[in-house]
Amino acid sequence: MTDLHPSFAPGFQARPWWWEAAEPPDRDAPLPDHAQVAIVGGGYAGLSAALTLRRLGHQAVVLDAERIGWGASSRNGGMVSGGLKVASGTLEKTLGKEEARRIALTCAASFPFIEETIAREGIECDYVRCGRYVGAWTPAHYEAMASKVAWIAEITGLPAEMIPKSRQREFLGSDHYHGGMAAAATGSLHPGKYARGLAAAAERAGAVLVDGVRVKGIAQQGGGFRIATDKGELSADAVLVATNGYSLDRRGTASPWLARRLVPLNSYIIATEELPQEVIDRLFPGRRMISDSKRVLNYFRPSPDGRRVLWGGRASFRSVTAQDSAPVLHATMTDTFPELRDSRITHAWTGYVAFTFDGLPHIGVQDGIHYAAGCQGSGVAMATWLGHNAALKIAGAANERFALDGLPFPTRPTYNGHPWFLPLVGGWYKLRDRLDRMAA
Ligand SMILES: Cc1cc2nc3c(=O)[nH]c(=O)nc-3n(C[C@H](O)[C@H](O)[C@H](O)COP(=O)(O)OP(=O)(O)OC[C@H]3O[C@@H](n4cnc5c(N)ncnc54)[C@H](O)[C@@H]3O)c2cc1C
Repeated sequence: MTDLHPSFAPGFQARPWWWEAAEPPDRDAPLPDHAQVAIVGGGYAGLSAALTLRRLGHQAVVLDAERIGWGASSRNGGMVSGGLKVASGTLEKTLGKEEARRIALTCAASFPFIEETIAREGIECDYVRCGRYVGAWTPAHYEAMASKVAWIAEITGLPAEMIPKSRQREFLGSDHYHGGMAAAATGSLHPGKYARGLAAAAERAGAVLVDGVRVKGIAQQGGGFRIATDKGELSADAVLVATNGYSLDRRGTASPWLARRLVPLNSYIIATEELPQEVIDRLFPGRRMISDSKRVLNYFRPSPDGRRVLWGGRASFRSVTAQDSAPVLHATMTDTFPELRDSRITHAWTGYVAFTFDGLPHIGVQDGIHYAAGCQGSGVAMATWLGHNAALKIAGAANERFALDGLPFPTRPTYNGHPWFLPLVGGWYKLRDRLDRMAA
């Protein structure tokens, strides 16, 4: 029985620790009959789009099946970066040097954009530009990172450097990795507070936020759209679907076309009980965000108040409960930080991220319906950026082509949005991580 596992603290809760300070609230706005722009999905992408549309003078209504900010946007690790992992892959081979560079610069631009948004809107979300340390799982991974470090510094315009294992303790209180990379273009925030603050900014600007309304279908009608929901219908002149990892749902799917192009994947996080200050200082010198180079990666950080460790990863490729995943994450955490063996878990939670078959985030239009999705598990800045750019497009206010707009958006034959293959692929990735480490 997992609830008797010694790693659980008394009073353990299977819900985001972030919600202790910023649980997405219930709203009671009625469903309007008409929206100039209807936005389906009230996460960072939908809210950012609503904010931009309002600033450009367009009326925007955000519809969320649950609560505004309830999805990945109030559950994530709060690590803010420009999604460069996406752009540093094999893009040059598939798209050519010039387009790959345009995409990399576009991804990197999400980082200053979120910083500007937080500052301009006065969003109190514990934002700090703290930098990131990426631990190398093997010496070969270290070499691969070293070959990209100059490129990352150039694209982000901020320093990035390789840290040999002999210096690792300046960045991380563990010898678990074979050195790593320290990159300055990363910040940290409290995701629940950021979702709440972005919602407040959109509302202040005049957007209407409606929760508890599930969109079940969108059809073209005249020059606009009819949107069927579980609370009745509304019409709209334009529609943006920003449902990301929550796109497919048996209770109603806004865009089956989009769901067929996204692979939803659970990511899991645990929070430890409060730890002595000197422990946090020793484990996280400089209070950076940490991730590693494994195929099945770990990501971890101190909580914004500097009292807990928040440890995240893909504990399972089957959709297990947060409670079942917690002991697995605890064991991984203590592999890296053995001194946390006796520290117990107060919270565990999960949420869906969305991967795409080409590894890229996308905005675009299909059958007249706009979409913004596919942040590959790294969407705090990117979803904010995608929503903004989708809004510029809807408003006809984009000055230049956004590099992630209108790219071919692949799916797979017979794929309907239900990733039955994940346990197989995930098992293979885990095995390869183990083999790589054994050979290191
Ligand atoms: C555990 C976890 C850790 C993560 N860590 C990080 C991190 O540290 N750094 C980082 O950059 N990214 C991270 N991410 C990813 C990041 O949180 C997401 O990329 C981002 O929040 C996506 O925002 P979004 O607005 O596109 O989608 P979401 O915030 O998921 O919002 C989608 C919304 O759509 C609604 N919806 C779905 N279908 C319908 C429908 N039919 N009708 C009405 N509403 C509907 C849902 O209720 C949901 O609220 C993490 C994600 C998770 C789950």
